[in-house]
Amino acid sequence: MKFDHVLKQMKDRMPEKRYIHTRGVALTAIHLAEKYGEDTAKAEIAGILHDSVKYADKEWLRAKILSEKMDPNLLNFHHELWHAPVGSYVAKNEFNIDDEDVLQAIKYHTTGRANMSPLEKIIYISDMIEPSRNFPGVDLLREKAEKDLEDAMISCIHHSITFLIGKKQPVFPDSFHCYNDLIQKRGKVKE
Ligand code: FE
Ligand code: FE
Repeated sequence: MKFDHVLKQMKDRMPEKRYIHTRGVALTAIHLAEKYGEDTAKAEIAGILHDSVKYADKEWLRAKILSEKMDPNLLNFHHELWHAPVGSYVAKNEFNIDDEDVLQAIKYHTTGRANMSPLEKIIYISDMIEPSRNFPGVDLLREKAEKDLEDAMISCIHHSITFLIGKKQPVFPDSFHCYNDLIQKRGKVKE
């Protein structure tokens, strides 16, 4: 891979299992970028950096959200969501990534949002279906990702939202906006 040197740096930042996940996301993202005509280098670096602060201190993440004026509503939701926007900040400021599409793909990889770019969708989907993921329904998501990026994205965000609702957990508004946007756009195409 082109950014193996950056991938190696992730080894010190996360447990082995998460490192394997990170590598899997990068490889899956490269594959999907090739398939759907997107930039494979951007897909690779976004995949490598997407979970860079997954194991960062919770209070440090909270402080960054406040000091960098990220969406304060994040703090009303589970801290699991915080590593995505802060990861985007770290990609820019520690790893000198200046490509907005890559930064946005990292920023929205846990919640999704309305009007996602193809690269954002590729990272979101890759995060869910990379080879080490193992949950009921993952194979169907993998099959969809091979056929149609939009359809795969709809199924992935549907899976996330219904999973959270099934556990009676709160759902961050961006995920609903993502779902509505995809469904409304799909409806328009079919009319
Ligand atoms: Fe993540
Ligand atoms: Fe991840």
